[in-house]
Amino acid sequence: MIIKEFISHYISLRNRLDLDIKRLENMHSSHMQCSKACYHCCMNFGILPIEAFAIAQTFSNKTAFTKTETNEQCIFLIHNLCSIYEHRPFICRTQGLPIVYEVDNQYQLSVCERNFTSQPDSLFTPDNCLFMDDYNNELYALNIEFLKHNPQLGLQYDTLIQVNNCITILS
Ligand code: SF4
Repeated sequence: MIIKEFISHYISLRNRLDLDIKRLENMHSSHMQCSKACYHCCMNFGILPIEAFAIAQTFSNKTAFTKTETNEQCIFLIHNLCSIYEHRPFICRTQGLPIVYEVDNQYQLSVCERNFTSQPDSLFTPDNCLFMDDYNNELYALNIEFLKHNPQLGLQYDTLIQVNNCITILS
């Protein structure tokens, strides 16, 4: 099935990202407050269709998720824990790390306000930051191919799907 084929490419890319994340988490463990029950950065993110379908395919019991009080809350946060942790999207995986993006030919650094409180920005170097542009570019390209091969979905290349809508995507 063509959707499954693309999802397996997506998972390979996600596995590569996870290796990079692990390397950086080990490097920065003394400066990071991220812990199992921290949900400071959890919200109803907009994600690309390829990610939404990858998450949707993992559900065995869609009724386990109840509506949140506000549209901003993520439906998968249950008792302060991510109930789809292994399958969470890229944006959730990278939160908390020092992340670098290129904007208008300049690099911009993003870090969680709770982490690196005693480390000056000058100590961040290309070796100790996560460069997301390469991963994002690969993800966007994969998403475009996924949508090209699945026109029955009727989705545009720039469509974002709210994480909370993953539970209804395959129904
Ligand atoms: S998918 Fe998981 S990690 Fe991402 S916002 Fe929801 S609960 Fe948090």
